[in-house]
Amino acid sequence: MSGAPPRPLASGERVLVCGAAGFVGSHLCERLLQRGCEVLAVDNLISGDLQNLASMLDAPRFRFLRYDVCSPPPREAEGVSRIFNLACPASPAHYQRIPVQTVLASTLGVWQLLELARRSGARLLQASTSEVYGDALEHPQQESHWGHVNPVGPRACYDEGKRCAEAMLVAYAQQYGTDVCIARLFNTYGPRLRPGDGRVVSNFIVQALQGEPITLYGDGLQTRSFCYVDDTVRGLCALMESGWPGPVNLGNPSECHMVELAARVQALIGSASPLVLRPLPPDDPRRRRPDIRLARQRLGWWPEVGLDDGLALTVSYFRARLALPPEAPVTMSPGLGTAEGGAC
Ligand code: UDP
Repeated sequence: MSGAPPRPLASGERVLVCGAAGFVGSHLCERLLQRGCEVLAVDNLISGDLQNLASMLDAPRFRFLRYDVCSPPPREAEGVSRIFNLACPASPAHYQRIPVQTVLASTLGVWQLLELARRSGARLLQASTSEVYGDALEHPQQESHWGHVNPVGPRACYDEGKRCAEAMLVAYAQQYGTDVCIARLFNTYGPRLRPGDGRVVSNFIVQALQGEPITLYGDGLQTRSFCYVDDTVRGLCALMESGWPGPVNLGNPSECHMVELAARVQALIGSASPLVLRPLPPDDPRRRRPDIRLARQRLGWWPEVGLDDGLALTVSYFRARLALPPEAPVTMSPGLGTAEGGAC
């Protein structure tokens, strides 16, 4: 894929955000409104929450439509000039309960959006994932790594769905000259993660705030690299504006063991919650850290928020949110790779 000339987001430009009521999508909508764009926000609310958009619903340049990306796009979406696609459940505990909807969002849904982009001459940004690397064979992970993914495992609906999405974008660019770009997001965290989301940052914070045991899967020595959502959103906009197709890693290269994450959360909250060991879910990647040299070179992007600062902001959010009726965190059931209890 060769790419298009850079094109900054212009004031008044019509932008479609799919998965807008989700955690990352809602932050992106906020930023696009600040940039003066007209935002058409769509979501089927399968894992998104309209509450995430509450502060925007009355904004003059903002419109929300309940829409599933697997269906033909609403007529209001025709003629948009940019499409950000973040429509897909992203928490393993959640997407493993709805694997069919998950794989369809990244295949049938992406196909619908590619056709829209082709008709409208829009640039389509696909939110892909570090999961395309699977249990990676190289460390840190560079964009050139082809990945090590189990195509029939419990994570396949998400990992392989996103890999197929990438392949479809490349095919449309090659065959039709569609303007596309691919961002591979590494673990993102921050305000608006749902208390019952099931991902590690929300689980640990909610458990520590509620004085519940902190559920550490496996030996806790597996690593992830956590990127604060504001940094991620800045990276998505930079890629959209660049004209460059990627794929590009967007993540924070500072790597952390899960046992260390638990300790940091406990220290921030002043929590005495004990750690409780649970079996490691199947196919849980052992180590994950992005190589972000390409993002630095091509986008002039790198993360600015350190883990302790980002966690402190996230803890404040959950403190306020948990003053509302609590939603129990979702945890993985041993060995099955499915969620037990809790609302998703
Ligand atoms: N994890 C954990 N306790 C939890 C939830 C997750 O120890 O309550 C671990 C999980 O096994 C994985 C890491 O934290 O090694 C990140 O999990 P998450 O579901 O947030 O995202 P992933 O990167 O696996 O998609």
